[in-house]
Amino acid sequence: MKIIIATHNRKKLTELKRILAPLGIEAVIDANVGITLPDVEETGSTFEENAFLKADSGCKVSGLACIADDSGLCVDALGGAPGVYSARYSGIHGDDESNIDKLLTELTDVPDEERTARFVCAVCCVFPNGRKITVRGECEGVILRERHGNSGFGYDPVFRCGDKNFGELSPDEKDGLSHRGKALRKLAEELKNLL
Ligand code: IMP
Repeated sequence: MKIIIATHNRKKLTELKRILAPLGIEAVIDANVGITLPDVEETGSTFEENAFLKADSGCKVSGLACIADDSGLCVDALGGAPGVYSARYSGIHGDDESNIDKLLTELTDVPDEERTARFVCAVCCVFPNGRKITVRGECEGVILRERHGNSGFGYDPVFRCGDKNFGELSPDEKDGLSHRGKALRKLAEELKNLL
């Protein structure tokens, strides 16, 4: 079975290929099947809604089952922000450095015990017959006062889960702990049951 992954992110594709291959599922992107999936506006107010919007559009355009994800960071002291706006928190989409700068500034006066946060990832798979699977993974942690390490991406340098700084983890260590790793393992379980 072939499933199209609605992403331009090579790392996500590699991760999905690794998880789906043992299930006999071939993960492809639009270029592999000679089409271009349109960019979908992330107008949802939840990670699940945005993942669905992307997967649903990808399925309709390609005629294949389509997997999409949406993820972000929710900080308790900020009422759950930046949440679905994580990629564009500072106003410039995907500017990790200015997003972190804004986050650290907002949290300057927040004491250590109130700096709790979680990474959240929703993954949705929509099938041509209209069936859909939605899963969610979360990773609890705290926001550090300064950057530690330069691995990963996004807010990793200021996120600590237990005694692990995300900015100092190898990709495999991060997969084992992360919101995305958890969501993808749940997805694999659901697909295994379905197929
Ligand atoms: P997207 O769902 O891949 O577009 O991610 C949205 C934004 O959430 C990213 O641009 C990052 O700012 C943040 N984010 C999501 N997952 C992670 C992660 O694993 N580490 C650090 N930041 C993340």
